[in-house]
Amino acid sequence: MKTAVDDAARIVAGTVGDDVLTVHRLRVLDESTGDRRALCGAGGPQSETDEWSRAVNCPDCLAAPTE
Ligand SMILES: [Zn+2]
Repeated sequence: MKTAVDDAARIVAGTVGDDVLTVHRLRVLDESTGDRRALCGAGGPQSETDEWSRAVNCPDCLAAPTE
């Protein structure tokens, strides 16, 4: 059974931490706080993420399942 949280989850493109060259797929964990996590696991829970309107170029994120 789907929850409201599942329905709200979305994937965006963006960078993690100081590496602004690698664009990851970021799962939005919390829209209100802007908490996002790279699908490939780049960075850590405390890593800053920035949403970008750029093509994802992280091979690990491109290969990662979205489920
Ligand atoms: Zn990645």
